[in-house]
Amino acid sequence: MKIQAINGFKDILPDSINRWRYIEQRARDIFERFGLQEIRVPILEKTELFVRSIGESTDVVEKEMYTFPDKGITMRPEATASIMRAFIEHGMHVQQPVQRLYTIGPMFRHERPQKGRLRQFHQLDAEIIGATEPLIDAELIAMGQMLLDELGLRTSLEINSLGCSVCRPPFKTQLVAFLEQHLSRLCNDCRRRTHTNPLRVLDCKQEACRAVVQSAPSLLDMLCNECDNHFQHVGQALQHIGLDFRINRFMVRGLDYYTRTTFEFLTADLGAQAAVGAGGRYDGLIEQLGGPPLSGIGFAMGLERLALLMEQQGAQNHAEHSMDVFLVALGDKTLNPSSRLAHALRKNGIKTAIDYAGRSLKAQLKQANRVNARYSLILGDDEWLRQEGILRNMRTQEQQPFTLTGTPEEWCSRLIDIIGPAPR
Ligand code: ATP
Ligand code: MG
Repeated sequence: MKIQAINGFKDILPDSINRWRYIEQRARDIFERFGLQEIRVPILEKTELFVRSIGESTDVVEKEMYTFPDKGITMRPEATASIMRAFIEHGMHVQQPVQRLYTIGPMFRHERPQKGRLRQFHQLDAEIIGATEPLIDAELIAMGQMLLDELGLRTSLEINSLGCSVCRPPFKTQLVAFLEQHLSRLCNDCRRRTHTNPLRVLDCKQEACRAVVQSAPSLLDMLCNECDNHFQHVGQALQHIGLDFRINRFMVRGLDYYTRTTFEFLTADLGAQAAVGAGGRYDGLIEQLGGPPLSGIGFAMGLERLALLMEQQGAQNHAEHSMDVFLVALGDKTLNPSSRLAHALRKNGIKTAIDYAGRSLKAQLKQANRVNARYSLILGDDEWLRQEGILRNMRTQEQQPFTLTGTPEEWCSRLIDIIGPAPR
């Protein structure tokens, strides 16, 4: 019997790896332009970390986590909690009051797998810790937008404010009172949520719930002065930078630690999976995890969704896979020197393919096309006797003689003179 991968866990095959690497490289490049440094945190953490940060009554903690209960550990469903744990554990704020960090890697959530929704998925995660200014919020959002733009993607940006520990509790009370009046029209999940996590009802995708929520009170009308001020400034700063956005007063995030600014980058092109990336402020989180009273803001983008969207929207600016040279060694005598030439070329950074199985010229040229080789060098026994191979430009089909005097290392330098050095 064949063993297959687990449902919701996917191989990323060589066919699509270039797109993945392209996205990762653009992300690293842009994040580093904004002064972010990479951090790598473990995949397993104590379960307690996620319960205390993400929140006990969130969907993620209630039903989506991969937990080993006997060991008290969980596979990370997101990266922010782990980064904050590391930040506190290593006293990173002592070295530098504002830390700008990013990480890229797999996350795990037990959800119903569908297009753009997996159980192992990958996130680009960016965080700015230790700064409260609204200009920081705008800068971070603009960084996310820059990445989407450079990937050639069309998305829209929505923002909202979730208030703080001063203005959110009275709003929650008012919201619960409102929802209780409309319980009969809510879905089963939302009836439960009304008392466990009422804000989540605002974000329910069910038609009936959405209709109820239209007339629900809005936190934006109840923000305290500080939060209102902050939100106004973020909006102004985004306008100054020249970002288009829409205020969505129903946006809430699935994780409890968010305060004030929240935002989402959205698309209509991935069906029910509308969010390509999302984030927000988490001003109480670090203290809640036993660290100093510092605030932070961050976002995460889903790599699967970015890759799908690039495919869907036809953004094709990533480099294609290619070989520089395909060595077509056709006779017994040429195999050994050809393998020495291949080694010398590779040592000089040239991507080189060679076939030792002695297939026909036609078969090997076909293979050279398949691996997208720029050149092939044909070395048959006849050519060997004449000390002159044939160099073929696979794009233009032009051929030229290639002198085979001296050692394969000398052929190597001669070849590089013609085809150019390896791109760095
Ligand atoms: P959704 O509403 O789609 O479930 P979310 O609010 O749970 O998203 P976050 O926790 O904010 O998502 O994660 C940030 C990003 O990570 C999302 O915008 C999405 O691109 C990606 N993401 C989240 N969960 C998954 C998943 N199960 N599979 C693939 N990508 C995901
Ligand atoms: Mg989710």
